[in-house]
Formats: sequence, structure tokens, C-alpha cells
Amino acid sequence: MTTKSAAKRKNGFKKFWRMGLEEVNTQNFDIGPDGELIFREGNYQYNIFDVVKKYGSPTEIVFPTIIENRVRDLIETFNAYIKVLGYKGRFYYHYAMKANQTKEFVLPAVAEGANLDVASANELFLVKRMIEQDKFNAKIRVICNGPKTEKYISLIEELRGKGLIVVPIIEDYNELERLKKFKGEVGIRVNLDIKVQAHWDKKFNRFGFTEEELLKIGKIKNLSTLHYHISKQIETIEGFVKPMKRALSLFKTLKEKNPGLDTLDIGGGAGVPFEKKKHFYSGKSLIQQIVKTAKKESDRLQLKHPNLIVEWGSYVAAPAQITIYKVLAEKNVSEKNNKKWYVIDGSFMNDLLDTWAIHQKWHMVPVNYMNTHKLQQVWLAGSSCDSDDRYTAGGEYILLPRLADCDELYIAVFDTGAYQDALASHHCLLSSPAKLIAQNGEIKIAKRRETSEDVGKLFGW
Ligand SMILES: *Cc1c(COP(=O)(O)O)cnc(C)c1O
Repeated sequence: MTTKSAAKRKNGFKKFWRMGLEEVNTQNFDIGPDGELIFREGNYQYNIFDVVKKYGSPTEIVFPTIIENRVRDLIETFNAYIKVLGYKGRFYYHYAMKANQTKEFVLPAVAEGANLDVASANELFLVKRMIEQDKFNAKIRVICNGPKTEKYISLIEELRGKGLIVVPIIEDYNELERLKKFKGEVGIRVNLDIKVQAHWDKKFNRFGFTEEELLKIGKIKNLSTLHYHISKQIETIEGFVKPMKRALSLFKTLKEKNPGLDTLDIGGGAGVPFEKKKHFYSGKSLIQQIVKTAKKESDRLQLKHPNLIVEWGSYVAAPAQITIYKVLAEKNVSEKNNKKWYVIDGSFMNDLLDTWAIHQKWHMVPVNYMNTHKLQQVWLAGSSCDSDDRYTAGGEYILLPRLADCDELYIAVFDTGAYQDALASHHCLLSSPAKLIAQNGEIKIAKRRETSEDVGKLFGW
């Protein structure tokens, strides 16, 4: 029987682990009566502890319903503000495929109306295959970023020949020359002379043309799109507003010699609240400010409102996957320190490479024993023999149940859907996690956990 105080206690734990909160993308997560992590898809629910017991660990679980909801919301919100604010341009969402190329990420996005942004010939090849199988609406629009090899350009030309709207973004003078032969519309990338608060704020940006170079080029054949990409995980809304103002004034000048220029592509960078105890901007307020700025600045410059493109990858993909590890053992950090190492049955360096590469912070919760008051300050150690294979929450600690109190303990790492899959590696020949898809109330195995044979094969054995 659930008494009032039991419910109150449960809500206390829910709040503590930051579950059930829309502002940090955990609205689908809850804690079951036995202290187990629950995921809800409409009125269906998955007990994550039961899932891992059945399928083992380490395991990634993808929730396509999150991708669908995020893409739908994003497109609807842009269109709603465009209408409310009287903006005359159109909006196109292009999913940045490089954030996660897994089929179960890309197809739900496309099914909700996403266009695509590809970064290589191989990503574009997947689009080609879907078009040939008659599975993609031929009206899908594809933006092609990244350096263009001859193979990449040939594929772009081939798809354009089949009637697909495929827009190569010119990155350098070689591409500018080569794409003079291209019959379709093209875009060009500018490296805006601007700094914003973001993860990637390098002094020397090697992508695209400088503003001066662009102005010198003057007329560009079939130019429809001006593109820039500032960084991933842009930390403030101002980090979107400032570059957009600068880009629009450049747009106005470029348009004098390129009257066909009608689209501004502001790239990726919409952030995800990885750290769930910190305040972060909402998608809704970000979109509102983007449309507002586009309207106000275009009016000020007496510019016909450009169509707007965003290529948000992480924003859609990151929250759609969690990664689950089992805690194998505990160790003292040092005599004087009350923290413990928890050793997990997977690897940060292999499965969540950004932990090592960019000191990514993650939100982690126990999968079972979520309703215990007795918690331990913990650092996590991966299973490879590398001293860098660890997670210390930036030198702080995370809290997890005391291992002595648990039969077995699993932990879930949130927001692992973006970039980690394609970066994954095999240090110490550890196996990659299994990948499960939780959709329509069923669990499907998208990728088995690698066997010793599988991993040996990768190295020629
Ligand atoms: C990586 C990338 C994106 C996606 O960035 P997110 O931060 O994941 O949204 C979009 N456009 C370009 C050109 C990129 O390189």
C-alpha cells in the first residue's frame, strides 16, 4: 500500500536523482516502487534493471521515442515562432548525421520530418541507399559539409542527377573551383570573426573562408546558402544571437552580387544539460531568440527574411541513449580520503571517449537501489589498464549506493547518444557494449555485445 509518506519519500529520491524533469530531459524517467530506474514511453514502461538483468552489461539503450519527440518539438517550435513573430522565411531542420549515424537514430528523425546534414562520402552513401530503396521521400534535402574528396563530389553529383536536393557547402578554394561545374545550388561556409562561450572556441579555425576572403570572392555560381558553425555545446543563448547578427550583415553584402542567396544555415551547437544540477537554457527559449534575432536584424538591414536552417545533432541525439555498467569492485582512493573507486565492467576511454578527450561531465544514477539513503562518494574506474580510464566528475565525486549494501549494483550514464558511438574504440581489446533499442514496448538488439572472436577479427586474428 502506498501511504502518503511513502509517496513523499519516493518524490524525494526522484528529485535527488533529477528524474522526471523536463528541463533536464529526464521527463520520461522515474523510480519504481522497488527503487529501480523506469523509462516511460507513453503508457508503456520499461524497468531498466529488468532489461539489464536479461541482456547483461555493459549495454547501451536507445529510446527512439525521445528522438521523435525532440525532432517534432523542434520543428513545431520554429514554425510556431515564425508564425507568431511574422517571419517570412521558411525553416528547415537538418539532422547532423555525424552526431549518431546509427539507423535507429537517423530513421526516427527522418520520419518526423528531419532533412539531413552529412559530413562525408560514406554518410552520403547511406542516403543514396535509402533513396534507391525508395525509402526516403525524394523531397528530403541534404546538406554536405566537410572536405570534399572526388568520391564525395561524384556522389553529390550523382544524387543531384537523380533529382535530390543536395547542397554542397564550399569549404575552400579548391572546392570553389571544382564546384563551378556543379548544376545545383551551393552553399559556402564562413569562419565568422567572433568568439562565444562554448566548448570549442579555438583561436585558429580551419573551416571555411574568412569574412574578408568571402567578400573578395564576390560572385559564386548558384549560391543559395551562407553557412557557419560555431561550436558544439554553445553555453548561452547569446552565443547564438551574436554570430547570427554578424552573419546577417555579411549575408546582406554577399546578396548584392549573389541575388539567389536566400538561406542562412546557422549550423549546430544547441546544447544539452549534461549536468543536471546546473541551470541551462531551454530549447524553446533558444528557438524564440533565434527567430526574433533573424526578424529584427533582417528588418534593420532591410533584407528579405532568409530561410533558416539549423543542423543540430547533439540536441536531438544525446538524450536518446543511456549507457549501463555494472560495478565490479570497490577500492579505497587513499588512506586519508573517504572516497572509493568503483570499478565498472566497461571503459570510459572506449565507450564514452569524450570523458577522456574533452573532459565531458555526465549525469549518473544507480539503476537499482535508487531509494537508499546510504550513499558513498565515488570515483569511477574503467576496465582498461589505462590510468586515464576514469571518471572523477572533474575532481569532485559522484554519489552512489554503498556497495556493501547491494547484492549487485548497476549504474546508468545519461545523454550518451551523441558522438560516443562513432568515436568508440578497443583499448585493451575490451568488447564494445551491446546496443538495445527500446521502442513500442519492445526491446530489440541492434548490436550484440562483441565476443572475443569479434574483437580478435578487428585486429586480423
Ligand atoms: C558537428 C557539426 C554539427 C552538429 O553539431 P552539434 O553540436 O552536435 O549540434 C552541425 N554542423 C556542422 C558543420 C558540424 O560540423
